[in-house]
Amino acid sequence: MKTSSYTCLIVSIFVFLSISSAASYNSVDFDAFLQCLPKHSDVSTVGAILTPNNASFQSIYQLRANNLRILSSATSRPVAIITALHPSHAQAAVICAKRHGIHLRIRSGGHDYEGLSYITDVPFVILDMFNLKSIAIDMKTETAWIQAGATIGELYYSIAKKSKVHGFHMVNGRILNRKSMGEDVFWAIRGGGTTSFGIILSWRIKLVRVPPRVTVFTVQRTLEQGATELAYRWQQVAPKLPKDLFIRLQPVPINNGGNNKTVRVSFIGHPTTLTGHFLGQADGLLRLMNVRFSELGLTRNDCLEMSWVKSALYWAGFPNGTSIDVLLDRVQVDSVLQDQVRLLQSSDPEARVRDLMASVDGH
Ligand SMILES: Cc1cc2nc3c(=O)[nH]c(=O)nc-3n(C[C@H](O)[C@H](O)[C@H](O)COP(=O)(O)OP(=O)(O)OC[C@H]3O[C@@H](n4cnc5c(N)ncnc54)[C@H](O)[C@@H]3O)c2cc1C
Repeated sequence: MKTSSYTCLIVSIFVFLSISSAASYNSVDFDAFLQCLPKHSDVSTVGAILTPNNASFQSIYQLRANNLRILSSATSRPVAIITALHPSHAQAAVICAKRHGIHLRIRSGGHDYEGLSYITDVPFVILDMFNLKSIAIDMKTETAWIQAGATIGELYYSIAKKSKVHGFHMVNGRILNRKSMGEDVFWAIRGGGTTSFGIILSWRIKLVRVPPRVTVFTVQRTLEQGATELAYRWQQVAPKLPKDLFIRLQPVPINNGGNNKTVRVSFIGHPTTLTGHFLGQADGLLRLMNVRFSELGLTRNDCLEMSWVKSALYWAGFPNGTSIDVLLDRVQVDSVLQDQVRLLQSSDPEARVRDLMASVDGH
């Protein structure tokens, strides 16, 4: 596959899928499918194939399914989970699924909002990539090869162990056309129908250079302290900030005691790696904020300087001082995803922010 300079992500190895038409539970021969797998694998499949008879089947299914809303409902379960231990297990899954008319769902992190990697209403098997998680970092070329099952935490951890002045950004946010994305990617994104066009076994990524210290901050204001006005101002300011800095807004309802409810809004500032030369120490940040967003009243006391990898922990909400070992934890997200699109009707932008705050407060 051609390597294009515009992007850090290079999909490296595919196992190509061939779309099989949906079958009913009665018409598929699962035993034949299971027997097919070892025949098309280069290494033993012992330990890689889980059926509901295996003690760990349910726990593996649940551990890798991050939307508890889906787990708690009457969704159909896979007839097997193939926890690939070798790339040829992925190949075998594709060959055998096609041969026996079984739908294949591919799961890497299981973080898909709608659970597309682990639910469907036809008989299906999950190909779970979580065991394929090797990360090889090459500091000479400032690149890394990452298998599909590695988490972003594991990647950050591995980079931090190799270098204090390198990081990785997940998205570069550019709009590309056929020419700028290159023929290979253009071909691939046309897709293959209702499922993906192939299984990604590993990625090659380009690392970016970061300073040894970066600055993060959190400023909290309640509604009574002018949070609504600041949120409105933030909407105007945030999109125009230099690409080095990202400010997130997080409103949460709080109780001030008794029935005194309010909303506390956290403005969380975090450096990004989008430009590769990102925000350094607190002085520069304070100068920038004084010019661009003075209403927030950011002070030196609000700012914390830390390594880039620690800033990733800060962003994820871990208390300052948490060991980066936490990045290696593969814990299930204990959440029922409830993201909603709220249609705020008012044509007055300030009123829309007020409505949003009221909805957080439960009014
Ligand atoms: C709480 C939350 C916060 C999020 N925040 C962000 C964010 O800040 N930025 C952002 O960009 N996204 C964000 N996302 C979206 C998330 O990055 C995507 O859903 C992403 O696809 C998750 O990757 P995964 O490997 O966990 O996906 P999975 O659930 O494993 O899979 C997602 C889709 O990709 C397919 N797939 C999985 N592995 C492979 C493979 N190896 N080869 C081919 N196809 C495969 C699956 O079949 C499925 O269709 C967020 C999601 C959640 C739930």
